[in-house]
Amino acid sequence: MKNKIWVGTNWKMTKTIREGLSYTEELISIAENISSNIELFIIPSYTALVPIKKLTSNSRVHIGSQNMHWEDQGAFTGEISPKMLDEIGVNIIELGHSERRQYYNENDEDINKKVHSGLKYGMKPLVCIGENIEQKANGISKEMLAAQLKVCLKDLTEEQAQQVMIAYEPVWAIGESGIPADATYVSEIHQFLREQLMNLFGDAGSAVPLLYGGSVNFDNFIEYIDIEDVNGLFIGRSAWNTESFEKILHRLDEHLFA
Ligand code: PEP
Repeated sequence: MKNKIWVGTNWKMTKTIREGLSYTEELISIAENISSNIELFIIPSYTALVPIKKLTSNSRVHIGSQNMHWEDQGAFTGEISPKMLDEIGVNIIELGHSERRQYYNENDEDINKKVHSGLKYGMKPLVCIGENIEQKANGISKEMLAAQLKVCLKDLTEEQAQQVMIAYEPVWAIGESGIPADATYVSEIHQFLREQLMNLFGDAGSAVPLLYGGSVNFDNFIEYIDIEDVNGLFIGRSAWNTESFEKILHRLDEHLFA
């Protein structure tokens, strides 16, 4: 039995402001018929954040940013600061997506600084972790994930830890060439992540939402959400058009909360 789950999508570099606004209008109206036990969020491009914040301000759709620098201001060309995102009213900061790690060399130490900065402004860090295919083949997935969690969440108090969400996204399961993970594997890993969170933060570790992401779609999402330690879904391609996202949301609502 789940009390509350988080379901959201990162648009990556796929939508213009106009496309984002029309998607968001549709999602707001879909959300009116979805149980409030489902916390909905979207993570638009930076250019769309301001108009989308305006559009969502009287709705239950939370908005997030795809990345953030840890400093409030400075000589960091191309970066966006926590102060700037706070000014917009962003609720969630996605950190450490595998594409950020792979193409922009983002590491766990950087992510840890960003987690602390975001929390200072009352924004909710959504920290993405996941092993790659070589690490899985070498049997070191759990070691990698434990290290990612430990470093990304370093020096957080128990109270702060409860403001964070974790998205477990095996790198090999994400995107066009991703292979959907076996539910048994996801279950084993989420149970392991929960244990690690409880080792780090005691009882507070049980309150940290653990989302699953990686080729989640209409045909497989029930298997994932039924896993005990899965507290939400982080969906890419299958949530990028509202028709397909709506189908998932209605079925999910029916399955868990009807
Ligand atoms: C992602 O890229 O984080 C993701 C979950 O994408 P997809 O659902 O398309 O695999």
